[in-house]
Amino acid sequence: MIGSDYRRFVVVISGPSGAGKSSFVKALLRRYPVDLVYSVSATTRPRRAHEVEGSDYFFLDRDEFHRRVEAGEFVEHAEVHGELYGTLKSQTERVLRSGRNVLLDIDVQGGRSVRTIYPDGVFIFVLPPSIADLEERLRARGTDSEERIRLRLENARREIEIAREYDYTVVNDDLEDATRKVLSIIEAETCRASRRIDSGRS
Ligand code: 5GP
Repeated sequence: MIGSDYRRFVVVISGPSGAGKSSFVKALLRRYPVDLVYSVSATTRPRRAHEVEGSDYFFLDRDEFHRRVEAGEFVEHAEVHGELYGTLKSQTERVLRSGRNVLLDIDVQGGRSVRTIYPDGVFIFVLPPSIADLEERLRARGTDSEERIRLRLENARREIEIAREYDYTVVNDDLEDATRKVLSIIEAETCRASRRIDSGRS
C-alpha cells in the first residue's frame, strides 16, 4: 500500500496588524481544531483587556524575555512596533512532534527567520484590501493611540512590500472567502509530493 502520511509543517501567517489577521487565524483554527495548532508567542507588550495569558500570548517583562533569548528558548524573536515578540521552540517542537501542523502568526522579520529554520514551511501573507481600509480597521478597533496607529500604518506599507517573499498572498476583503482560500492552500500543501512519507509497504 502506498503511504498516505505526510511530514508535518509550519504555516506562517503574516500581514499588517489590523488586516483582520487575528479573526482570520481564529476562523482557521475553528475549521482545523485537531490538525492545526496555534503557536502561542511570548511578548513584552502589555496585555489587552480581552487577552488571556498563555492562550493569546505569554506576557513577559523585558528582563525575562532577554533571559529566555540567552537561554536559546526562541525559534525567532523580533522587535515589532517597539515591543519584543518571539516564537518559542517549546511551542513549535511540541506540536510537530505530536504529528500536527503548527500555525504561526508573526511579522515579516519573524517570517524570514522561520524560513531559514523551517524551509519546508508554508508562508502566507494576508493583505488588506487597501491602506485606507487598514486605517479604518485600526481606528474601529479602538485599542491604539493616534501615534501608534501612524506607526502601524507606516510598518504596514513596508510589510506589504515584503509580501513578495511569501509563497502565497491572500487579500482579506471577505473573511469567509479568505479563510476558504487559506484552507485550500493548506490542503494542497499536505499533498505535496516532497512531504509524502513512504509507509515502506508495497
Ligand atoms: P499584536 O501586538 O497586534 O498582537 O501583534 C503585533 C505584530 O506582532 C503582529 O504583526 C504579529 O503577527 C506579530 N507577532 C506576534 N507574535 C510574534 C512572534 O512570536 N514573532 C514575531 N516576529 N512577530 C510576532
